[in-house]
Amino acid sequence: MKVTEHIKNAKGKTLFSFEIVPPKKGKNIQELYNNIDPLMEFQPPFIDVTTSREEYVYVEREGLLDRQITRMRPGTVGICAAIKHKYNVDTVPHVLCGGFTKQETEYLLVDCHYLGIENVMALRGDAMSHQKYFEPSEGGNNYACELVEQIENLNQGKYLHDVIEADHKSDFCIGVAGYPEKHLEAPSLKTDLRRLKEKVDKGADYIVTQMFFDNSKYFKFVEDAKKAGINVPIIPGIKPIATMRHLQLLPQVFRIDLPEQLISEVEKCKSNAEVRQVGVEWCIEQSKELMDAGAPVLHYYSMGKSSNVQQIAEAIF
Ligand SMILES: Cc1cc2nc3c(=O)[nH]c(=O)nc-3n(C[C@H](O)[C@H](O)[C@H](O)COP(=O)(O)OP(=O)(O)OC[C@H]3O[C@@H](n4cnc5c(N)ncnc54)[C@H](O)[C@@H]3O)c2cc1C
Repeated sequence: MKVTEHIKNAKGKTLFSFEIVPPKKGKNIQELYNNIDPLMEFQPPFIDVTTSREEYVYVEREGLLDRQITRMRPGTVGICAAIKHKYNVDTVPHVLCGGFTKQETEYLLVDCHYLGIENVMALRGDAMSHQKYFEPSEGGNNYACELVEQIENLNQGKYLHDVIEADHKSDFCIGVAGYPEKHLEAPSLKTDLRRLKEKVDKGADYIVTQMFFDNSKYFKFVEDAKKAGINVPIIPGIKPIATMRHLQLLPQVFRIDLPEQLISEVEKCKSNAEVRQVGVEWCIEQSKELMDAGAPVLHYYSMGKSSNVQQIAEAIF
C-alpha cells in the first residue's frame, strides 16, 4: 500500500515508522533482522531503506595502492524485497540521482515495480566523501525534482526511450526530503521551500524531514510550507542523540542547531551510556509533542541500531 494511503487509513492516528541502513558488503543480513524484530510490535506500516553513495577504497596490489570506487552498502532494493517478504510490511527504497544514470534508475524502478514495491523516496544524494560539492553522474539526474519527474513519467507509461501503451503501469507513491532548518547548500530557507514546492508540483506525494531537535522548527516549516501551497503530508524525521560526539557531528554534517537545554544535559553526562539515555528522554518528549500536534507519522532514524528507538516507541505507541 502507498504511504499516503496508510496515512489516510489511520484517520488522524499517528503512525510509527523507521529507516534502516543496509549492512556493509560481506556482513550477514541477520544482524539487520535482529534490529528490526523488536520494532515490529509497534506495527510500522512502512520501513525505509537508505541507499549509500559510492566511495573510494584503496587496495594494495604489488606494493602499490590501487584506488577503486565502490558502493560499500549495496542491496537497497534486495533488502526492501526481503523485508517485505519476511515481515509483510511495505518498504520504501531510497533512490538517488548521484551515482546512477537515468537508464540505471529506470531499470531499478522496473525491478521495484515487479517486486510489488509501491513507494520510493526520490533524493539527490550527497556529494561523495572526497568531493566538496555534489556532482551528478553523466547521463543522470541533477536534482531530486528531475528524479521525481522521471518516476512520474514512468507512472504515465513514459520510458526513457519511448511512450509505451503499458497495460500494467507503475503507480509509485513518491516521497521527497524537506529541511526545516534549510538544506546546507540552499541560499535561504525561502529558496529551499520554493525548490521543495517544485518537487511536489512535479509529483511528490509526501515529504519526510531532515532530523531536528527543536519541534518549533518543524511546526514553523509545516506552516511555511502550507503558505507556499504545499499540501502533501509532512512526516517529521527524528533521531535520538546517542553519543557525546553527536554534539559536534550532527551540526557539522546536517547543518542543524541543537537546543541549549539538550547541549547542557549532554555536557553533564559522564559516559555515552548516559548520553544515550538523555537522547532517548529528549526524543520521547519531542515525539509526544509531535503526536499531540497531529503529526501523521513519527519516522525514526535508527541508523541500524534499534534499542533506543524501541525504548522511545515503548513510551509513545
Ligand atoms: C528523509 C531523508 C532521507 C535521506 N536518505 C538518503 C539516502 O538514503 N542516501 C543519501 O545519500 N542521502 C540521503 N539523504 C540526504 C540527501 O541526499 C541530501 O540531503 C542531499 O544533499 C540533498 O538531497 P535532496 O533530495 O533534498 O536534493 P534536492 O531537492 O535536489 O536539493 C538539493 C539542493 O539543491 C537545491 N535545488 C533543488 N533544485 C534546484 C534547482 N532546480 N536549481 C538549483 N538548486 C536547486 C535545493 O534547494 C538544495 O539546496 C536523505 C535526506 C533526508 C532528509
